[in-house]
Amino acid sequence: MRHFDFKNGEIYAEGVSLRRIAEDVGTPVYVYSTATLERHYNVFTAAFSDVPALVAYSVKANSNIAVLATLAKLGCGADVVSGGELVRALTAGIPASKIVFSGVGKTRSEMELALKSDIRVFNVESLPELAALNEIALSLGKRASIAFRVNPDISAGGHDKISTGKAENKFGIAWDQAEEAYAIAAAMEGINVVGVDVHIGSQIDDLTPFKAAIHKVGALIERLRAAGHNIQSFDIGGGLGIPYGDNRKAPPLPSDYGTMVKDMTRHMDVEMIFEPGRMIAGNAGILLSEVIYAKQGSDRNFLIIDAAMNDLIRPALYDAYHDMEPVKAPGAKYDEIIYDVVGPICETGDTFTKQRALPPMEAGDLLVIHSAGAYGAAQSSQYNTRPLIPEVLVNGYNYQVIRERPSIEDILKTERLPDWL
Ligand SMILES: *Cc1c(COP(=O)(O)O)cnc(C)c1O
Repeated sequence: MRHFDFKNGEIYAEGVSLRRIAEDVGTPVYVYSTATLERHYNVFTAAFSDVPALVAYSVKANSNIAVLATLAKLGCGADVVSGGELVRALTAGIPASKIVFSGVGKTRSEMELALKSDIRVFNVESLPELAALNEIALSLGKRASIAFRVNPDISAGGHDKISTGKAENKFGIAWDQAEEAYAIAAAMEGINVVGVDVHIGSQIDDLTPFKAAIHKVGALIERLRAAGHNIQSFDIGGGLGIPYGDNRKAPPLPSDYGTMVKDMTRHMDVEMIFEPGRMIAGNAGILLSEVIYAKQGSDRNFLIIDAAMNDLIRPALYDAYHDMEPVKAPGAKYDEIIYDVVGPICETGDTFTKQRALPPMEAGDLLVIHSAGAYGAAQSSQYNTRPLIPEVLVNGYNYQVIRERPSIEDILKTERLPDWL
């Protein structure tokens, strides 16, 4: 069931016409579907309904508080990587007892905030971080529950820039130092060891690296227990890929992922923690943009649209593929045109796709860029003094703006001329 689909010759988000949203809110704009968010969360949790498990949505994929609140209502937890994300998750109504804190560079003030909020667990990535956390916990008269994020030295992920589980990556405790780290943590008064954590990468389209990670970590859990550690949880991070509509291999279904994980972990007697981000939000959002000009170059056709790399950086950063189509269904008979779809920014990297066959489009036409719900708005910037674009959440026949478009005055308000000017 697709929630961005044609009705009466044009694309709707659930029951709302995208053309209407463009008219009311302006373009470019992100549009998210409540029904899709809910379905993805429900599909994922259904795969683990018969075992103890916490689904902690990875806030960084799409951190809008309305998205978080939609998931919170269903019982979802959160994986946060900054103090700001922690505040977002709490603001959206996600209970602290369902919040895990990941990240390789947590600052002292972030740890203090998390400790005071009584979050569930810190995923600790280094011994210096552990020492700092211990110190802060003691000063607050608290004990921090921790899991070490271990680096299993496994290659995974759809692009070099989103592979995180190899020894050369900055993430986690080196595999051969893990047991020593647990011994050090166990001796600390301000630390309570509760689990093990891994996260090997993102947009993973195959179960093999997940299996390898579970296999390795399962053996580690046995060794840690033999050494007297009380390992209660096994967090296997996020990373499950989603279809982007290109011809690459289809990623595993959540149900197949679930069956595999359950089969491999059933005997371990642990609570599983999952940190899916992209899988929940990616296909729950689109970027809606208007063609500014259709330009004929000497050897190619350009569609210059009003969205740019500052709004959606995935193509520039990860060579990511996004499906695209006009909001208005093309007539019965037409010849496709091969376009480069580009934004207005003065960078050659500001290109959404090259040599893509699309129905003929002209200035004023609306274009949908699909699968933009994760790592879209969350990674946007105001480069070229282009205001952050609004976000809209659709729910059935209703929609509301869930982040407003700032004005140029709003942007300039934070800047100051120094006294000498
Ligand atoms: C980014 C990230 C995730 C989410 O990854 P997805 O590929 O979006 O599922 C989960 N855990 C950690 C630690 C991350 O950094």
